[in-house]
Amino acid sequence: MWGRSVVSASTVDSVNIRHGSNNLPFLNRDITVIGAGIVGICSALHLQRRGFNVTLLDRRAPASETSFGNAGVISRGSIFPEAAPGIHRKLPKILANKSREARMHYRYLGQMVPWGRQVFKNAKPQNYEKNLFALNDLVGRCLQEHKQLLADCDGGAFLRENGWLKLFRQSESFETSATEQHYYKSCDVEFDRLNGADIKDLEPGLNNIFAAGLWIKNTASVSNPGAVCDLYAKQFTDAGGSIVCDELKQLEWRDEQWQINCEGGVQHSQSVVLALGAWTKVVLEALGYNIPMAVERGYHMHYQLSDSASLTRPIYDVDGGYVMSPMQKGLRVTTGVEWGSENTAATPVQVQQVKPYVSQAIGISTELDPEPWLGRRPCTPDSLPVIGRAEKHKNLWLAFGHGHMGFSMGPITGRIIADLISGDTPPIDTKQFQLSRF
Ligand SMILES: Cc1cc2nc3c(=O)[nH]c(=O)nc-3n(C[C@H](O)[C@H](O)[C@H](O)COP(=O)(O)OP(=O)(O)OC[C@H]3O[C@@H](n4cnc5c(N)ncnc54)[C@H](O)[C@@H]3O)c2cc1C
Repeated sequence: MWGRSVVSASTVDSVNIRHGSNNLPFLNRDITVIGAGIVGICSALHLQRRGFNVTLLDRRAPASETSFGNAGVISRGSIFPEAAPGIHRKLPKILANKSREARMHYRYLGQMVPWGRQVFKNAKPQNYEKNLFALNDLVGRCLQEHKQLLADCDGGAFLRENGWLKLFRQSESFETSATEQHYYKSCDVEFDRLNGADIKDLEPGLNNIFAAGLWIKNTASVSNPGAVCDLYAKQFTDAGGSIVCDELKQLEWRDEQWQINCEGGVQHSQSVVLALGAWTKVVLEALGYNIPMAVERGYHMHYQLSDSASLTRPIYDVDGGYVMSPMQKGLRVTTGVEWGSENTAATPVQVQQVKPYVSQAIGISTELDPEPWLGRRPCTPDSLPVIGRAEKHKNLWLAFGHGHMGFSMGPITGRIIADLISGDTPPIDTKQFQLSRF
């Protein structure tokens, strides 16, 4: 019997999902996009708009993993690679699991070594700056691409264009943002510096604990990232695209086409786009590629706001070590980084660690989720995604490694992938995103 039952995170019932079926007919312009997170969905949508006959394959319903539960920030200001000069100074605290923002599963440490080596290489000042400007090229296009897709599917109501706040409890920690402000200026990121009174004016429902902050202005956020992904997936199926629910087991290039071996049977496609987020590494390694990628897990929990509390935009509480975003469901608090395998069970220590800090910042009451949600950020050592051709194989395209910014970058990635496959010139130089850079 084909297919498995689908547990849908969808808020849109009419996304039409087909379960696996043998030997899909293929045409010359047949493409299968594997992975239906925001990156796969947007790649499928843009390819379909170029006239390709696109199948989107995922083992679960669209956007059931990381693209579902993120903080929903489409951030113009997130242009800073993790591999930054001075990163080694943070290491002792991280290795001792003494930071709320970053902790690790010690058994994952061995797997992190090749990635870690490249992180240190990328943290050299000249590499850091090169990566920052490459990231800025992509980040600068995220909001306009989302706005276009949202307009096409009547999804504008999810979008809030009131920026986001990076807030500091102590003036001394605000001083550490001086370098950031320098790069904002050189990258045309609009921002205002805020004092405590300005913060209270902008967000009167916050408690009076923040001394200073930055208001990143040309940034937006959505009130339900999973529902936005569902709308994009529905655009794709409404225009005739198929979504197949099955689990990829192995990919093989045979008889001038890709044989996609799935749990439910075999599919064929002339071209494949791999957009499996944190799960891409294992598939590519089986094809002979060496991928330095780490999984940075993150959690969320929703809270009911107390009567006196309110929030109109996302906030990064820098000293508290978490992000909070107003969502349709309630206040979504997302945690920092937990290095660990994509497949091991949740260990949501950080959700409990940050909760007292959230309570200091804003009035919260009941927890609205039965248990914390776990997502997996696919992180490259230079914080740049991989977008482009897989050099050793014919008709194999890659779109993964979007780290902390995949929700923002999904639509522009989809456009670039469609440009590359169609032979059009992408809006930005894509050499910087090729896999061969590692
Ligand atoms: C706590 C948290 C907060 C975040 N906040 C933000 C934010 O505010 N803004 C932002 O831009 N980004 C944010 N991110 C990052 C963003 O969510 C990710 O970068 C993005 O969702 C990655 O999308 P993706 O499509 O690459 O992967 P995913 O959404 O993880 O999709 C991968 C898909 O592959 C499928 N799959 C895996 N293996 C198989 C298989 N064998 N066969 C078939 N299908 C398979 C999975 O089911 C899944 O649907 C956040 C992430 C976290 C964890």
